[in-house]
Amino acid sequence: MNCRDCQSALPDLLLDPSAPSNTTTRAHIDTCAECRQELAELQATMSLLDAWEAPEPSAYFDQKLAVRLREEQEKAPAGWFERLRTRLLFNTGRQFRPALAGALALVLLVGGGTFANLSSLHLGNTPQASATVDDLEILDRNDQALQTMDLLLDDATDDASAVPAT
Ligand SMILES: [Zn+2]
Repeated sequence: MNCRDCQSALPDLLLDPSAPSNTTTRAHIDTCAECRQELAELQATMSLLDAWEAPEPSAYFDQKLAVRLREEQEKAPAGWFERLRTRLLFNTGRQFRPALAGALALVLLVGGGTFANLSSLHLGNTPQASATVDDLEILDRNDQALQTMDLLLDDATDDASAVPAT
């Protein structure tokens, strides 16, 4: 057994020092001062943890908490702004979900209506064209505009790089 195997087996040895599976670990520790040192440090830490006690709350903790709660409940209701702020700070968002869904539906309706109006105005001479065809035409125009923009930008950068060279 090497030192690395031994040190990873040390917790098992601490939990059950006389277990037969720990025979090789014990044999290594008898011969290796470094691992013996490691075991001693682990044992010191464990006994320290055994002696440690979690601090008890003060005897009047429950009473004080109850009094504080009652005081908060009996306080005059806060102003509307304070109540809104508290609600926004501490809410889980569940009560806003229906409102949010409604708002999104409204946005979709308004947006869709506006788009339909615009496209019917725009395509006054070809009313038989479907919305899909219209969309594709818009995409095509956008693509062309982007390509033109790219060309212009390329020219601009070419010019800019050409100026210092000359
Ligand atoms: Zn060792």
